Amino acid sequence: MFCPAEQVTGPPRRELSRQPPSLVAMTELLTEAQDQMDDVVGLRRRLHRFPEVGNHLPRTREMVLEALNDLPLTLTLHESTSGIAAVLSGASEGPTVLLRGDMDGLPLTEDTGLDFASETGDTMHACGHDLHTAMLFGAAKLLSSKRDHLAGSVIFMFQPGEEGYAGAKFMLEEGLLDTAGTPASAGFAIHVSPAYTSGEVHIRPGAQMASADELYVTVHGSGGHASSPYKAVDPIAVASEIVLAIQVAVTRRINVFEPAVITFGRFAAGTAHNIIPPVAELSGTIRAVSEESRSLAEEIARRVATNIAAAHGARAEVRIDPGYPVSVNHADTVASIRDMAGRVLGSEMIHEMPAPIMGAEDWSYVMQQIPAAMAFLGACPPDLDPATAPVNHSNLVLLDEAAMASGVALYSGFVMDRLKA
Ligand SMILES: [Zn+2]
Ligand SMILES: [Zn+2]
Repeated sequence: MFCPAEQVTGPPRRELSRQPPSLVAMTELLTEAQDQMDDVVGLRRRLHRFPEVGNHLPRTREMVLEALNDLPLTLTLHESTSGIAAVLSGASEGPTVLLRGDMDGLPLTEDTGLDFASETGDTMHACGHDLHTAMLFGAAKLLSSKRDHLAGSVIFMFQPGEEGYAGAKFMLEEGLLDTAGTPASAGFAIHVSPAYTSGEVHIRPGAQMASADELYVTVHGSGGHASSPYKAVDPIAVASEIVLAIQVAVTRRINVFEPAVITFGRFAAGTAHNIIPPVAELSGTIRAVSEESRSLAEEIARRVATNIAAAHGARAEVRIDPGYPVSVNHADTVASIRDMAGRVLGSEMIHEMPAPIMGAEDWSYVMQQIPAAMAFLGACPPDLDPATAPVNHSNLVLLDEAAMASGVALYSGFVMDRLKA
């Protein structure tokens, strides 16, 4: 299902001659992107063979730098991470826009059977970041050829550490937004997904993805013989009540239109069936689609755990490790992306998401600083059903390389809309 590069087809090419002149440039973007798929697919497959995890991706960075080598870009190699900020300066002055492609893989063993599957044995590009990086390279190449028609600058953000390492945050702290001189004033990121038909764009204003914080509750009771609980303080019974009470409190305290989820994925206690242990541990995740419900959910977790433990003569320690914030799509930016994407891909390819996805993204740190948006790009292989295809982070996930032409065209269209000479 992964066509060799020369056979990648993608959406049908469109007849240009009947388009009004203002639409021709945008319509041509998809054709131009399709014309450079050999290079884009080549980079994607090289990256796919050697996924690296975290903020330090030396081999990945080398491969990206090699691909960018012939392009008229000014490169800044970040020091706290393997991030690369590549700047394309247009022929005249104008605003700066930021495009993002994340580069990191995940710690799991690939079982796809692809002939360019991971060769490391324990890491896999299972979230499509290899496609993102290759699409961003494709956009850098395409836009470089249009440099004379651009007024302003583009920062191509090649980012490590999206999968839990806050790579975007480190790049911001190293001055990413000021890399081009004029501060970046708009940003766009694309995430591929096998849950949508290949080439479709799915986006919404407001919350696109959730926040993700880690919650740890340790209940300290006092141990004893299982036959005589009245002589002990049973932390398992107390922790069980905390798990259920938090579920009730979330439904009673949080606005249903700005939902939050608290799920405990780990409950650990005890050593044998006839011993009451002194301690029980809970670990969970807090997800929310607004900063208000996020902080309310955290407050609920602390208050309920602490006070239920106290009611039973036990003591609860609550720790919350903050993770990625809510990814909030800037409404005007979404409107302009929808309009542009319609011109580039055809309006039938653009879909409004009915609700956010409860996963999280560190692109949210960029969204907190500049008007920015993220879109999902469908990449389900044509012979699979998006409803049942293996999902991102699966050891079996497959993504349609032909969708990368749409991604390159969208990134390029975003820039051309804003840097008109
Ligand atoms: Zn992921
Ligand atoms: Zn991802």
